[in-house]
Amino acid sequence: MTYKTHMLSTFIVGELVAVYSDIIDTKEKAIGFFIALLFGSLFPDIDEEKSKISKMLPSFVSRSLNKLSHRGFTHNILGISFFFVLSYFGLSMISPDKAVVITLGFMTGVISHVFGDMVTYSGVPLIPGLQNIKIPIFGNFKVGTSGETKVYLFFSFVQIFLISYFLYGRVI
Ligand SMILES: [Zn+2]
Repeated sequence: MTYKTHMLSTFIVGELVAVYSDIIDTKEKAIGFFIALLFGSLFPDIDEEKSKISKMLPSFVSRSLNKLSHRGFTHNILGISFFFVLSYFGLSMISPDKAVVITLGFMTGVISHVFGDMVTYSGVPLIPGLQNIKIPIFGNFKVGTSGETKVYLFFSFVQIFLISYFLYGRVI
């Protein structure tokens, strides 16, 4: 998925988490949650030189992370677990009261990203050593093709319906 499709699809998941979980109960927590969510939606692609997140990070950070193979550690179960531990315990030391909400946002972003890559043609090596996992919804489109444009449009409509639902209590 391109970064735009990752951000849009993850934002939709994040909206549902934010609305239906009761731990995001202040404006500050909601802002922290959504910033962490969008950061997490791009984060696994730090293993790719030309990705949006690599361009956003300082070059000395991205250059060292780009040495990882693409859709490797940052897209598998070990990497996801590592990010969770690092995020939760790191944040607990800095800001204990916001650690849960920010970790929830970040990990929702990371997991949505990996799930998003699973619906593409290449799939994701979620479990190291095993075959790439592909989920055959949306026809396993190739990244950046017209197949992805259709998926982006689909999520755009879902977003419109959700806004309508949140504002007026009905889909249309
Ligand atoms: Zn990815």
